[in-house]
Amino acid sequence: MDLLIKNGTVVLADDTRRLDILVKDGVIAKIAPNINEAAAKVIDAAGLTVLPGFVDMHCHLREPGQESKEDITSGARAALHGGFTAVCCMPNTTPVLDCAALVRYVKDRGRESNYAKVYPIGAITKGQKGAELAEIGKMKMAGAVAFSDDGCPVDNGNVMFLALKYASGIDALIISHCEDKNISDGGVVNDGLNATIAGLKGISRAAEEVQVARDIILAETVGTRVHIAHVSTQNSVELIRQAKQRGAQVSCETCPHYFSATDKEVLSYNPNAKINPPLREDADVQAILRGLADGTIDAIATDHAPHSANEKNREFDLAPFGTVGFETAFALAYTKLVQTGILTLPQLSRLMSANPAKLMGIGTGELKEGAAADIAIADLNPTYTVAADRLHSKSKNSLFIGWTLTGLITHTIVDGVERERW
Ligand SMILES: [Zn+2]
Repeated sequence: MDLLIKNGTVVLADDTRRLDILVKDGVIAKIAPNINEAAAKVIDAAGLTVLPGFVDMHCHLREPGQESKEDITSGARAALHGGFTAVCCMPNTTPVLDCAALVRYVKDRGRESNYAKVYPIGAITKGQKGAELAEIGKMKMAGAVAFSDDGCPVDNGNVMFLALKYASGIDALIISHCEDKNISDGGVVNDGLNATIAGLKGISRAAEEVQVARDIILAETVGTRVHIAHVSTQNSVELIRQAKQRGAQVSCETCPHYFSATDKEVLSYNPNAKINPPLREDADVQAILRGLADGTIDAIATDHAPHSANEKNREFDLAPFGTVGFETAFALAYTKLVQTGILTLPQLSRLMSANPAKLMGIGTGELKEGAAADIAIADLNPTYTVAADRLHSKSKNSLFIGWTLTGLITHTIVDGVERERW
């Protein structure tokens, strides 16, 4: 079915322009001013902004095994409502996604769900136990787009060294959750003044930074690439900036909560502010903002981490880590990065679409002729307040409930089709 998007402000690689977009057979056939060809369906995007669909390279869909928190269908639908046309889900499910059969299962479930496209990430080690490499080659052939033990670090440096060597041979991307568990040592918040005031056990920034440094060095030694997940500290940004300057093949992501919030949030003991790595301090937020602006940080990922209310709503020490993120990511990024003048819309678009798509090898993440018609349309005018009952995720554990943001997704189009209307 053909689709014509008229009168929108279209976000291109380097600028934004008033253009129409014609879609045929799921592909962008034409981008030009005033297209007058007939189409089966027309969206009048006057006053709206048309972006490449967002690509989330780091989320948790919880299926198989933890469907009370989220499943592939509910997660992919929530993603769609957030403007995401593709999401890559982490393998810390039950069982762990560490073999080809499970990779195929997640891919099939994503296809059946028919919301945002779902791309599985396989585990680095069997059962994410950090000891023995999983079937990385077989999982890649089955459709795994990257490999990570996210949720757990690969503690043993030699296991990570072997994983990088193996991945290098088959051009697979390793995504590292950097956390030295001996240093984080059961902490629940950033180690700092607010941890002391709240009487909560702190996690030193060093827990993250020593593994960032280790994995950069290991990747450089192998001569291969590595991707650092959810960067949260000033020093991590600096380590990655220096590594890039000397030519290391390191990339990284941060998440909306690391540029939008600080550990002041924990003073109210809100369990949705318990996130791993933890919310840091203002100096870290400023460093993340500089890293986003100068290209040190390659991508914005959600780390969408749904947890059911009965798990989250308990004492801070006992609550699980994580916030949901699909349906607030763009609004947070627009409000905190674009409205403040830190990034332009094309820069933000690259961080949320083109760069993660390239890192994961899944399409272009750009609006251009010949590309898949994966498109998000947003209204950048109204401000609105984030409300739990408006979220489509099965779990409502959003740090951002009650926040006032700008940047409302009005349509999401996947392969030329609006898979749901709202
Ligand atoms: Zn992680």
